[in-house]
Amino acid sequence: MNYCSAKGIVVIGGGLAGSEAAWQIAQRGIPVFLYEMRPFIPTGAHTGSNLAEIVCSNSLGSNLLSNASGLLLQELRILGSLLISIADSCSVPAGKSLAVDRERFSQTVTQNILKQPNITLIREEVVDLAFDSICILATGPLTSPRLASRLEALTQSNSLYFYDAICPIVDASSIDFSFAFKASRYMDPANSGDYVNCPLTKEQYLELSRELAHAERIKLHDFEKELYFEGCLPIEIMAKRGEDTLRFGPLRPTGLIDPKTNKRPYAVVQLRQDNLAASLYNMVGFQTNLTYKEQDRIFRIIPALKNAEFIRYGQLHRNTFINAPKLLLPTLQFKDNPFIFFAGQLAGFEGYAGNIASGLVAGINASRLFQGKEPVIFPRQTMIGELLWYICHADPLHFQPMKANFGLFDLTLEKNLPKDKAARNLFLSQRSLRNIEAFVRAILA
Ligand SMILES: Cc1cc2nc3c(=O)[nH]c(=O)nc-3n(C[C@H](O)[C@H](O)[C@H](O)COP(=O)(O)OP(=O)(O)OC[C@H]3O[C@@H](n4cnc5c(N)ncnc54)[C@H](O)[C@@H]3O)c2cc1C
Repeated sequence: MNYCSAKGIVVIGGGLAGSEAAWQIAQRGIPVFLYEMRPFIPTGAHTGSNLAEIVCSNSLGSNLLSNASGLLLQELRILGSLLISIADSCSVPAGKSLAVDRERFSQTVTQNILKQPNITLIREEVVDLAFDSICILATGPLTSPRLASRLEALTQSNSLYFYDAICPIVDASSIDFSFAFKASRYMDPANSGDYVNCPLTKEQYLELSRELAHAERIKLHDFEKELYFEGCLPIEIMAKRGEDTLRFGPLRPTGLIDPKTNKRPYAVVQLRQDNLAASLYNMVGFQTNLTYKEQDRIFRIIPALKNAEFIRYGQLHRNTFINAPKLLLPTLQFKDNPFIFFAGQLAGFEGYAGNIASGLVAGINASRLFQGKEPVIFPRQTMIGELLWYICHADPLHFQPMKANFGLFDLTLEKNLPKDKAARNLFLSQRSLRNIEAFVRAILA
């Protein structure tokens, strides 16, 4: 089948990256043919037919400029990202983070895409790579197996996947608030914070950690290797690493005081608001591959969740990505065929904002190529530029998807940087924003 049209640009995958890419192209007056296989072919994790469905945590990360995700979000606002402006308009309370009502978010993205006259949405699985025009591949971590095998051939890889896991969701009305308190870390205890905190005594914590470490897990197929991403380890794998691992990880009590005891608890399970109605909360850091029966049994050790109703249990999922440092240019073009762009998780970006950013870059560069202009390399000393640089220059032998972080900046030649970490990050952020603004004025205007 021939999917392409020389009359426009083809975008495959209507997720976070693909929707942003399609929008950027359409805004530049170029016709877009956006292919999305849902609802006819499911992915196993997406539940609806909307574009840009957010499948797990509803948080796009911190909004603070002293935080890497806060900087990336701000750069994306300056660059005119559709999805971040929609995220801002669908936000739910989450302390200093940008968290969204996921349903409203994907609905609004879909409405905007459908309203854009330059975009034709085609609900069809792409199974071939027969392109005769510029194309952006943004089929995400759950790229359909038929397309994934085509991609293996295109990229000459024997393996494109590893495993990731998602967190359970609890019905808010089933949380026992006599064992929970609302607070955000480091907040004045007199104020009510955004997170529901479920404190644990030492005994409760040790029991939870032990049970998690020894619980029954869903079996993987024999041919599937366990290849987890370190940044998103299943809770049971963390528990196996040692008695204190969870207490210094997602269950850390730092910055939290239980108003009932006026003390810092031994450990805390945090729940984050998942929808605008505040009727659903997700268990922060509890991505897991335990059997549903085991999740139902073990999570009830947490006193506040003794009678919880689990709306969704955690699950493990496949994660498909190419070896970007070997295969991509910093413009996100495929080295072997510059008419093909990669974006999103498939290109090795991690985190919702990073995936949106890659869609924006691929969309802008595909448009430029279509218009006979040179694709641009986004400037370094910006979060987006450093992320792109890393994706295309990391060690191909050990490549793992990467999310925004200040470690991507090369500080070896920097002089007069503030010593304090938060002040240093803020300094880097402010400079990055000036660089992005100058780039927009000089190159993209
Ligand atoms: C279960 C799960 C949990 C996750 N949890 C988090 C999290 O908590 N935080 C986080 O930052 N990231 C998380 N991720 C990663 C997350 O997927 C990305 O951050 C983001 O959704 C990736 O954006 P994307 O556009 O690359 O892919 P997606 O948003 O998945 O979009 C890809 C789209 O392509 C479509 N598609 C696939 N194959 C084809 C085909 N052959 N033809 C046509 N359409 C196709 C899919 O249906 C999908 O709509 C999770 C991923 C999964 C699967």
